[in-house]
Amino acid sequence: MTKDKRWTIGIDFGGTQVRAALLCDHQIMRRVALRTDVPGGPRAIMDQFAKLVDDVCTADERAHVDCVGLCSPGPVDTATGVTLDLPTIPGWKDFPLLQSLHDRLSLPVIVENDAIAAAYGEWVFGAGKGLRHLIYITVSTGIGGGAIVDGQLLHGRRGMATHFGHLQLQPDGPRCGCGGIGCFESLASGSALGEKARRVKTGHLAGKAHATAKDVVDGARLGDTACKDLITEEARLLGRGIASLLALFSPERVVMGGGVSQAFDLLDGEMHDMIKRHAMPVFRDVRIVPAQLADNAGLLGAAALARLKLDQKKTRRSD
Ligand SMILES: [Zn+2]
Repeated sequence: MTKDKRWTIGIDFGGTQVRAALLCDHQIMRRVALRTDVPGGPRAIMDQFAKLVDDVCTADERAHVDCVGLCSPGPVDTATGVTLDLPTIPGWKDFPLLQSLHDRLSLPVIVENDAIAAAYGEWVFGAGKGLRHLIYITVSTGIGGGAIVDGQLLHGRRGMATHFGHLQLQPDGPRCGCGGIGCFESLASGSALGEKARRVKTGHLAGKAHATAKDVVDGARLGDTACKDLITEEARLLGRGIASLLALFSPERVVMGGGVSQAFDLLDGEMHDMIKRHAMPVFRDVRIVPAQLADNAGLLGAAALARLKLDQKKTRRSD
């Protein structure tokens, strides 16, 4: 292996899977994954991170890795690297994630919110390449996102900006996991769509007591009327939420990722119609496009941010 190449490890800490990738000059060379040991808590999951790093590279490759980027579900204080309280993964309140990982790996580490890392990944390598103003929205179990404004990744106080899922859209809407009422996420996330699907007792969804968003998408593709109606409603809600985001950030483009974006072709028309009807006239030409990096966006973004931070440190030292 060539020494002048730059070797980085990206780690994606998810509620279902923990994954790691070895990157050489931002190209993924290898990927490994484990099922997240949620009941084991921070100690077991820190062991999983260490195992993934051992598994993803040989000793020779490891010797050339000089930084690690980890993306974590929020809310996480990325200024200090401390997780605040992860609603989907219990036992992580006030855990010093960055310091613990650094102690384990003896390498420079950065910790980034998973949606902000994915936004950065899509901006540098994916569907937002070359733009100065961009919004990334992920619609899966929850709704999250990131924003590039004036060519800068937006972080906000404690690194907690752009929690798009908690825009309050409907004052009499359902209660959200965050404690708020009528949040974008409680109305339009994949989980919300699954919940609506479970109330339908006819057609494709009949007898499916555990129906999910994927069942709705499958049903809509088969032409089922109730599923098609749910997809139309989902597209309208997404269009409405995104119309507000356009007013806040004035992006050149909106990139949509997450599990629900696999139905992008079904959502596309109605979502854009909603923007044309509800966004301020000056924002009506902004296009929403599907993400390009699938579930690698967070890994690639976190690794690239770790690389950027290390380069900035080296530049400061040589000044
Ligand atoms: Zn909320």
